[in-house]
Amino acid sequence: MSEQPENSITQQWIERADKHITTTYGRYPLVAVKGSGCWLWDAEGRKYLDFLAGVAVNNLGHCHPKVVAALQQQAQTLIHCSNYYHIPTQIELAEILCENSFADRVFFCNSGAEANEAAMKLVRKHSAEKYGKERFEVITALASFHGRTIGTISATGQDAVRKGFTPVVPGFKYVPFGDVDAMKEAINGKTCAVMLEPVQGEGGVNVAPPGYLQAVRELCDDNDLLLVFDEVQVGCGRTGKFFAYQHDDVAPDIMTLAKALAGGPPIGAMMAREQVAATFSPGTHGSTFGGNPLITAAAVAAVNTLLNDGVLDNCVEMGAYLRTKLEQLSEKYPFAGEVRGRGLILGLQLDIPGADIVKQAMVQGLLLNCTAGSVLRFVPPLIVTRTEIDTAMEILDGILAGVAA
Ligand SMILES: *Cc1c(COP(=O)(O)O)cnc(C)c1O
Repeated sequence: MSEQPENSITQQWIERADKHITTTYGRYPLVAVKGSGCWLWDAEGRKYLDFLAGVAVNNLGHCHPKVVAALQQQAQTLIHCSNYYHIPTQIELAEILCENSFADRVFFCNSGAEANEAAMKLVRKHSAEKYGKERFEVITALASFHGRTIGTISATGQDAVRKGFTPVVPGFKYVPFGDVDAMKEAINGKTCAVMLEPVQGEGGVNVAPPGYLQAVRELCDDNDLLLVFDEVQVGCGRTGKFFAYQHDDVAPDIMTLAKALAGGPPIGAMMAREQVAATFSPGTHGSTFGGNPLITAAAVAAVNTLLNDGVLDNCVEMGAYLRTKLEQLSEKYPFAGEVRGRGLILGLQLDIPGADIVKQAMVQGLLLNCTAGSVLRFVPPLIVTRTEIDTAMEILDGILAGVAA
C-alpha cells in the first residue's frame, strides 16, 4: 500500500472516518470524490480505472449522462411521495421490467437484501396458504450470497456471515451449487422454494453448469416448489443479456434485482408471476422509500439506456475480449488458473491469495477485488472499451510478473 503523506487530504479523511464510521469494512486508503465512465478520481486528484464498478452497480459507468439528466429533472419535480399514491416513473419501470422478463408484477424496495426478504416472505405466504404453515423451508446453495440482514444471512450458504449473529432465521438448507442429486435429496415435505444465483458472484464467480437450472426447474415443477433467482449482481445486463437466466432455457417464478438497476442510486426489486404475486394483499408488505419517484426516474433512464444504446452488445463483445486477455495471463503464470464467468462478470482463479494483488493494482491505478479468497473478480462497467481493457490488463500483467519473480 502506498503510504499517505502525514497531512494529505486522504489522511485527514481517514482520521475522521476512523472516529465515526462503523468498522464493518476493511477500507483501502482511497477517498473517492468523482467518477466518469470507467474512471474514478480520489481526493488527491489521482485517477483509477474502475473494474469493480461499485461492486457491479455502475453498469453504465459513473455518472452516465442519461441517468444524471433523469435525476436532475426528477429532483426538481417530485423527489418522494408515499406508496399510498400511484407513482408514474415506478409504473413505467415495472412495465419495462415485465415486458422484458417472465414476470407480471414488481415490488420495489431499496437494496438486494430487501428484495430477497420480499421474496422469502412471498414464498412462505404462498406455500402456507396452499399447504399449511409447516411447509416453509427454502433450499439455497453453498457459497451463495443473498445479503446481510438477519433473514438473508440465514439464506446465505456461508457459515462465516452468520458467525456471532445466531440464532438465525430457521427454515434454510444448503446444497452444493450445480449438484442436481443433492438438490433432489434435500427436497422434502417441508420444502417450499429453491433460491439460486444463476452465476454466484461473491462465492467466486461460479456459473451454473449447463442443464443445472433446467433440472432444478423440473424438480420445482414436480414438487410444486417456487423457484427464485437472485439476480441482484448478475441481472441488468451484466452477463450480456438483460437477465442471466435468459442464457438458459428456463425461467423462475420470482426474481430479485438491485445493484445496477437504477444506474447508481439505491434500489431493489422483487419480480413475480401473477399467480404468485397475488399472494401479497394490501398490508402484507411494504417499504417507505421503495420505488420512489427520484430513484425510479433514474432506473427508467438506466434500463432504457441498457436496452436501447447497444450496451448489451458491447458487454458481449468486451466480455469475450477480456476473457481472452485473462486466459492469456492464465497461460503465462503458473499460479493463475481457470477463467470463469459470463459477459462482464469474470473471475480469474489463483493458487495464491488475491488480496495483495488487489492492493498493488490500486496503487497502480486499477480497481479490482478478490472474492472467495483467491478469485480476482472483474466487473467493469458494461460500456468499457478495448483500450481500457488493454490498460487494465497491462497493469495486471506487470503485477503478476512481479509475483512470479
Ligand atoms: C450484493 C448482493 C446482495 C445484497 O444486496 P445489498 O444491496 O447489498 O443488500 C444479494 N444477493 C446478491 C447475489 C448480491 O450480489
